[in-house]
Amino acid sequence: MTADETQTDIKQSINVDTDEIAKFTAIADEWWDKNGAFAPLHQINPLRLNWIEDSVHAIQGDGLTGKKVLDVGCGGGILATSMAQRGADVTGLDLGEENLKAASLHAQNLGITDTLRYVHKPVEVLAGEQAQQYDVVTCMEMLEHVPDPASVVQACYDLVKPGGVCVLSTINRNPKSFLFAIVGAEYILRLLDRGTHDFNKFITPAELDKMATVAGFKRYDLIGLHYNPITKRYWLAQNVDVNYMMAVKKPL
Ligand code: SAH
Repeated sequence: MTADETQTDIKQSINVDTDEIAKFTAIADEWWDKNGAFAPLHQINPLRLNWIEDSVHAIQGDGLTGKKVLDVGCGGGILATSMAQRGADVTGLDLGEENLKAASLHAQNLGITDTLRYVHKPVEVLAGEQAQQYDVVTCMEMLEHVPDPASVVQACYDLVKPGGVCVLSTINRNPKSFLFAIVGAEYILRLLDRGTHDFNKFITPAELDKMATVAGFKRYDLIGLHYNPITKRYWLAQNVDVNYMMAVKKPL
């Protein structure tokens, strides 16, 4: 497929908000600046990586080493890279071309070439091509940026093998998450650029659970991701009022 055809393909795909993609590609040169716009993603990465690996271990009996993993909405590859460094064979997917350029360049600089690759196509299209090929599918901090998150969850289900694991993360929708994720993070602490998130697109755990169940998944675990702006510490806890992750499994 030529670059032009890919562009057309993406424009025709109903499930993308090109303004959302533009927000990320405009600052794609900052993906690997640990103090830049994506600093929060760098800071939470070890936590989420461990939680993903623990979930995979609990469901499949072993960790990420040797697993075939797809990271949907991978951005500059922060999580994808770390999973490859844990021994997984990782494909990152995103619709922001500049994000993937930043991701590929970083992989080259690290010398990770065989076990980490990036694809620029809608996840629904990949699901048609590579159904049931992945042991693990991750989709982090992306569902709140797409018009139809249920369609992405369904594509994740189609891509994962029976017995496989999918880990999703997003932001809950309630007055507290408005205060923390928008007012606090974008306006007071300036952790994120203003306009990064649209409150109406936040997804409650019940809504995400329903999307996952309708797709065919069974819920395995749910955990909250917390941040203290004073100590700058990130940790996991049962409270899922703001940021959270959900691990689901595809029945055998
Ligand atoms: N998952 C990464 C990046 C999160 S930022 C991480 O947690 O580190 C959200 C990413 O989703 C951006 O890179 C954006 O380009 C991507 N994105 C938004 N809509 C998308 C869509 N419809 N398909 C694929 N990627 C999308």
